[in-house]
Amino acid sequence: MKLRLMEKSNALYDAALSLLYPQACAVCGSGVEVHADGVACAACWKRTRIFSEDDLICWKCGLLAPGSVAEDKRREVRCRRCDGEAYTAARACGAYEGALRASVLALKREPYVSKRLARLLFETQQREPLNSATRIVPVPLHPERLRERGFNQAAVLAAALAKLSGLPFDEWSLVRTVHTERHRAGMDERARRESVENAFAVRRPRLAENERILLVDDVFTTGATVSSCAKALGDAGAQESFVLTVARPV
Ligand SMILES: [Zn+2]
Ligand SMILES: [Zn+2]
Repeated sequence: MKLRLMEKSNALYDAALSLLYPQACAVCGSGVEVHADGVACAACWKRTRIFSEDDLICWKCGLLAPGSVAEDKRREVRCRRCDGEAYTAARACGAYEGALRASVLALKREPYVSKRLARLLFETQQREPLNSATRIVPVPLHPERLRERGFNQAAVLAAALAKLSGLPFDEWSLVRTVHTERHRAGMDERARRESVENAFAVRRPRLAENERILLVDDVFTTGATVSSCAKALGDAGAQESFVLTVARPV
C-alpha cells in the first residue's frame, strides 16, 4: 500500500517536475519524462546498447567477442590482448554511446547519478565474477585535478553503487600520486600506459589486505589506468581487483 502510494507520488513528482523544468534529453533534445532516467529520455535509453549476460565477451577484459560458446566454456574466453593486465575481470554496463555517453559527460559537470544508472551499475556488479567483490574503491583523481573539478566522478559512481550493494565504500586507500593528463591529444596507447604506470599508491594497505576490490570508473578505454590501480592494490596485499565502468567503446 505504502509502496503504491510512493509510486504514485513519484509519478506525480515527475509530472510536476517536467512541467516546471522540461529537461531536454542530452542526446536527442526531446523532453525527459522520467526523473530517474537522468539526462536522457526513455527512447534514447532504449536505443543505447546495454550489455547482458548473453553477450559473449573476453572473460577478463570484457571485450565483446564474435561467435558463441557453450555455457560452461564462457569463463575460458580470452581476447589475449589483456593477458598482462593486473585486474581479474573488467565489466561495463554498456556501450559508450547514446544515454550512457550522455550520462558520463553530465557526470563530469554535476556530481549526480540517476536512479537508472545506479541500478545498471548494481545489476552489472551482481554478475559473476564481480559479485564476489568485498570492497568498492573509486579510481582516484590527483588532488590537483580534484581541486579543479570539485569532485571525483568515479567516487560519485562508486558511492551510488555502495549504497545499493551494501559493500563498503573506500575512497581513502588508493591515491593518485602523479598528475597525468588523461586524454592528451597525440598520445598513443604506449604513451598513455607509461603515463599512468606507477601513478597510484596505496595509503592504507591494511584496508586493502586480503580484500577483493571492485575498482569503479566512468569509462574503460585501454584499461591502462585500472590495471595500474590493480597492480598497486595487489602489491599492497589485495587478493584481487575487479573493474566496473559505466561504459566502454565497442
Ligand atoms: Zn532522447
Ligand atoms: Zn581481454
